[in-house]
Amino acid sequence: MPDYSAPLDDMRFVLENIVDLPALAALPGFEHADPEMVHGILEESGRFFAQEFAPLNRVGDTQHSRRNDDGSVTTPDGFPRAYARYVEAGWAGVPFPAEYGGGGFPWLIAIAMQEMLTASNMGLSLCPLLTQGAIDMLLHYGSEEQREVYLPKMVTGEWTGTMNLTEPQAGSDVGALTTKAVPQDDGTWRITGQKIFITYGDHDLADNIIHLVLARVPDAPPGTKGISCFIVPKVLLAEDGSLGERNSLECVSIEQKMGINASPTCVMAYDGAVGYLIGEANQGMRYMFKMMNNARVSVGVSGLSLGDRAYQQAVEYAHERRQGRAPGAPAGESSPIVDHPDVRRMLLTMRAQIEALRCLAYLNAESLDLAARHPDEEVRTRRQELADLLTPITKGWGTDLGVELTSLALQVHGGMGYIEETGVAQHYRDIRIAPIYEGTNGIQAMDMVGRKLPMRAGGVIADFLAGIEATAGELSGADGDLAAIGKRLADAHAGFKTTTDWLLANGLADPGNALAGATPYLRMCGIVTGGWLLARSAQAAQRQLDAGEGDADFLRQKLVTAKFYAEQLLPQAAGLAPAVTAGPADLQAATF
Ligand SMILES: Cc1cc2nc3c(=O)[nH]c(=O)nc-3n(C[C@H](O)[C@H](O)[C@H](O)COP(=O)(O)OP(=O)(O)OC[C@H]3O[C@@H](n4cnc5c(N)ncnc54)[C@H](O)[C@@H]3O)c2cc1C
Repeated sequence: MPDYSAPLDDMRFVLENIVDLPALAALPGFEHADPEMVHGILEESGRFFAQEFAPLNRVGDTQHSRRNDDGSVTTPDGFPRAYARYVEAGWAGVPFPAEYGGGGFPWLIAIAMQEMLTASNMGLSLCPLLTQGAIDMLLHYGSEEQREVYLPKMVTGEWTGTMNLTEPQAGSDVGALTTKAVPQDDGTWRITGQKIFITYGDHDLADNIIHLVLARVPDAPPGTKGISCFIVPKVLLAEDGSLGERNSLECVSIEQKMGINASPTCVMAYDGAVGYLIGEANQGMRYMFKMMNNARVSVGVSGLSLGDRAYQQAVEYAHERRQGRAPGAPAGESSPIVDHPDVRRMLLTMRAQIEALRCLAYLNAESLDLAARHPDEEVRTRRQELADLLTPITKGWGTDLGVELTSLALQVHGGMGYIEETGVAQHYRDIRIAPIYEGTNGIQAMDMVGRKLPMRAGGVIADFLAGIEATAGELSGADGDLAAIGKRLADAHAGFKTTTDWLLANGLADPGNALAGATPYLRMCGIVTGGWLLARSAQAAQRQLDAGEGDADFLRQKLVTAKFYAEQLLPQAAGLAPAVTAGPADLQAATF
């Protein structure tokens, strides 16, 4: 199996040029996160994931996690040991508060680490990812006692967490869930119901699993207004905090899936299990919404991760495989396929989109940090708005691209890509879930047009558009490649603005218009945002080249990538305008 190598130089470039790591390190509480320390963490953790997790990726795919006759779940060979080493190394706690044993680093660093973790082994990465979501929920809404009891072990990774929303009749429509919670005299609750598709619902990586379960209390209002959130541990704790009796819950089966086979996707049965209410009753959906940004950015990053791992593999294969004669190659000799223009097109398309996605995800994460920690309230508000706006783009466009990028990598391999032995097919199968979970991409698109465009009466998207226009303006005054990139960005901005104005004028009054155009609009948002960020990346590269700083070959490649994106990928945004503005008539006229 080809190895994964963490793209540290590319990551560093984004951390230094698209987001402002030194400014984050100047925020109260982040003083220890100085750039050199951060790069050291990324280098070390990248080496760890590549050495310990990446070699198990294939094992996980072929062995799957298995449910045993006694209801316990066994993960693939090597997983418990690799996970134990991850806990020992302290990687799990990097972004969490020091008072619970964490490193107190910005979320941005967690996202950069997640890029490498997921690329190394997506099936295994989901256990820490879900645990992070559960920790985040407890940090924000758990009582002081709940935080003290559960967080220290969850932050280290000794205990893991799950999110239990989905039921057979309640998927996208979470408000349809029926799991019940009945209050007890001692202040606890008894939880009864069935949850499906629960990631790492049971496993052998940790002594305890802290399930966060959405359920309805008696007389709860219907729909999302009547949902409450409960802590339901797999193993109950004794008075002294040690592990006590097994709670009344079990994994009754594991789904057979097309990918992420190592990740046990469990049907969970709760049969009067002891639960503890988080916060107030009937507020569970509000709590979930608050923490969705983090989880959705993480899922968006998986598109970047697998796209990059598949890209690395495709580049290697393209150098090894020889077929036909490339233009200009000597007669009588076959060429490596990397010399054929169409293969180069595939590779450069991948590289450009991967780099755009990395800029987007890191900017999104930085905005979450600034929204949470900046001392100036105005900055906090603006960055929260930006994070809110970017999140459906990171999740929706990021995961759609994940599928497309892994598919392109497979295509570069030709027939060998379709053969499991090369491993590239696994990336394609693994990433296919990402546009579905954590809110399908259809739901992300509806979120964009229904919730995000109307923010501050269209003021948030207007500010965002103004930022793109400003970059295009700066570039148009430059020379050579930068001017060419600026021209394309200005055109894309104009089309994006016209389409956005149409949606604001026609979509808010008539939601049918907005919903019919939502998915092409989200893609347009992604393509243009990617173009804007790569244009900034080109600006930064040119600045350094002019100043004689940095690695000139590396920086010139940044310009090549940005120009290719601006000239060959960015114009695709304009082609989406007719679909965004068509309205629902044709969709409604069709019979199925
Ligand atoms: C491998 C895996 C792991 C998972 N892990 C977890 C987990 O850990 N915890 C958990 O709680 N859940 C988990 N899920 C569940 C996942 O979040 C849901 O599958 C997802 O939310 C979609 O719900 P659904 O499958 O019922 O699809 P549906 O809601 O039935 O959607 C089917 C299609 O209809 C579309 N659609 C639905 N409603 C609308 C609407 N109002 N307007 C427009 N289009 C709509 C959707 O976009 C989709 O294309 C997991 C699922 C899988 C497969």
